[in-house]
Amino acid sequence: MLLSSQKRYSKKEYQTKNKYPKYIPFDENFIWYWDLYFETGLIQEKLSRRNKITLVLDLDETLIHSNQIRLPGLNYDFTVSLKVKEAQTMFYVYKRPHVSEFLSQISKWFNIVIYTSSVQEYADPIIDFLDPNGYIKDRLYRCNCEQMSRNWIKDLSCVTNNFKKCVLVDNSPLAFSRNWKNGIQIKTWFGNPLDRELVKLLTFLDALRSLKDVRHILEYRKDWN
Ligand SMILES: [Mg+2]
Repeated sequence: MLLSSQKRYSKKEYQTKNKYPKYIPFDENFIWYWDLYFETGLIQEKLSRRNKITLVLDLDETLIHSNQIRLPGLNYDFTVSLKVKEAQTMFYVYKRPHVSEFLSQISKWFNIVIYTSSVQEYADPIIDFLDPNGYIKDRLYRCNCEQMSRNWIKDLSCVTNNFKKCVLVDNSPLAFSRNWKNGIQIKTWFGNPLDRELVKLLTFLDALRSLKDVRHILEYRKDWN
């Protein structure tokens, strides 16, 4: 039914002038309006974003390793300066092997979030360096973690309320103790240049990305390493 105040568009008008129609009039031509709307890519884009799994990544010893002392025989990639106990301290940052390729590939499959138990002043320059292409969509820091004795627990409800489509990759299993069905533990990385854990993880994530509920697989996989 078309209201009298609404303009009736011809199919040709839509195709030429209204590449991105603001609304879809509901009338007898609804089907081809819908087709056209679908063809423009707006709906595909919305659906794909909604259906994508959110992949939450830890930073230290998962994607990078940093140390106040330079590692022998290994070139550092970046330095970050931070005030620790009133003194300015320099940290040498090492990228885990294959991390750039890893981020580039998973950005096509997932919405990527970094959730680190480090403070923002330390994490932000490292994430900026790691991700010049802007693959990472959100960042959470120590202030978003819960402290339990000397450990930091990550709470995925800070990231999403859809736990069916959320995965946390962390080297510490304690980090995802609150959402253990959503966790993947990765081997801790301290600078081994021959490490291939991120490449191995890609294969698993590729299989995981089409699932309606990731917990159906993750809750049964306990022998991560
Ligand atoms: Mg870590």
